[in-house]
Amino acid sequence: MRSTVFVSNGMKWKTMMLWSFVLIAVLVLIAVLVSTIMYAKYWPADPGVDRKDEYLAYFHETYADSRRAFLASVAGLKKDHAGLERGKLIVPSQLDVDLTIDWCYLPAKDTTDKLLILNSGLHGIEGFTGSAMQCMFIDEFLIEGPRNDMGFLFLHALNPFGFKYRRKVTENNVDLNRNCMEGGSYHISNDGYRELADFLMPGGAASTKDLRNRFFHLTSIYKIVRESMGVLRQAALQGQYDFPLGFYYGGKEFEPQIDSLSLILERYMNQYQTVLNVDLHTAYGERGKLHLFIDKPEDNRVEESIGRIFPGVAVDWGDSEDFYTINGQYIEWAGSLKKEGLYIPMLFEFGTMDSQKTFGALKSIQIMILENQGYHYGYSSEKEEEKIKGDFSEMYYPTSPLWRTKVMEEALAMMQLMMQQYEVFRL
Ligand SMILES: [Zn+2]
Repeated sequence: MRSTVFVSNGMKWKTMMLWSFVLIAVLVLIAVLVSTIMYAKYWPADPGVDRKDEYLAYFHETYADSRRAFLASVAGLKKDHAGLERGKLIVPSQLDVDLTIDWCYLPAKDTTDKLLILNSGLHGIEGFTGSAMQCMFIDEFLIEGPRNDMGFLFLHALNPFGFKYRRKVTENNVDLNRNCMEGGSYHISNDGYRELADFLMPGGAASTKDLRNRFFHLTSIYKIVRESMGVLRQAALQGQYDFPLGFYYGGKEFEPQIDSLSLILERYMNQYQTVLNVDLHTAYGERGKLHLFIDKPEDNRVEESIGRIFPGVAVDWGDSEDFYTINGQYIEWAGSLKKEGLYIPMLFEFGTMDSQKTFGALKSIQIMILENQGYHYGYSSEKEEEKIKGDFSEMYYPTSPLWRTKVMEEALAMMQLMMQQYEVFRL
């Protein structure tokens, strides 16, 4: 009798264990399924604004049209600005003979106090928005003729190859920011990238449907748990100089446009006491929001000047938790060409993917990996090519009229503040 009770208790235990195991397995399966569906469907919501067609008119769908619009804006300025200078830097290419950085310089009327530089397209495809902002700026702030103590320099499409072919990088797969190394040292090793190379740089035809991409969020979360998000982000984004087919590759020497750009920058920057250099970008940050960011300057005067030109604006100084340190920055390198006086660098970044959220950050990295893989190894099908290129384009240049309206509103408000403050800025 006693032994029967014992056996039946033991059986109960086993049955309970089995059921608990089945229950946990089912819950895990549901969690995997739900998160996979949620991740697959994830795309950040558009900002709540009313569409404004007068803003949308600034956005174009090809590099040629954006360049034409910029040149037309510059031509419109000529009658009111006697000292206007303009030109183009031809960027040599194996594939295309029509890649140019177009530039325009408007001198200050009376003094040589201040210069404002506005750049677009350092990251190729981001140039669509940058170009729109440059043309809007010309219409809003320069139509009345030259300013007494402020000159302007516009550099359009710093990376025309990436702009035209909708890539972020140059023809040599080089990220122009990571390429701008002061002192020209390219011998930096990114051990984290090396360790994650299989994950960040897969070979073979790209497909969003293969297992690694269907469960990308799970693999990444596993890696985050193992390495922490900071380590992963640092490895992926800081830049690397060892894998020419990987993303955030900085190259081995200056890209061809850097030398000619340095001549223009040296010529105009050194005529002025103070230079404010604004570099226009897209993708990082909250969708539709303008983020200002720049590495904490070593010179206190620079930080203090930023506070005066952008009062009350939250500036990301690159020291927050979800930030990462990077090698090479065009905007810092440009400053090294200014011999004396004050140089104030600033990045305007218009967010697209809500990359401050986990899914947004993961989706951004996955889209970059797939685009890079497809470019180098091809795509599993035409449909996949369309999907991968489409996602990449949406990430850097959203088609949404609401996003475009919102970033124009944000840019205009920030530029009004910047101009008002820079106008009265004295050293
Ligand atoms: Zn960028």
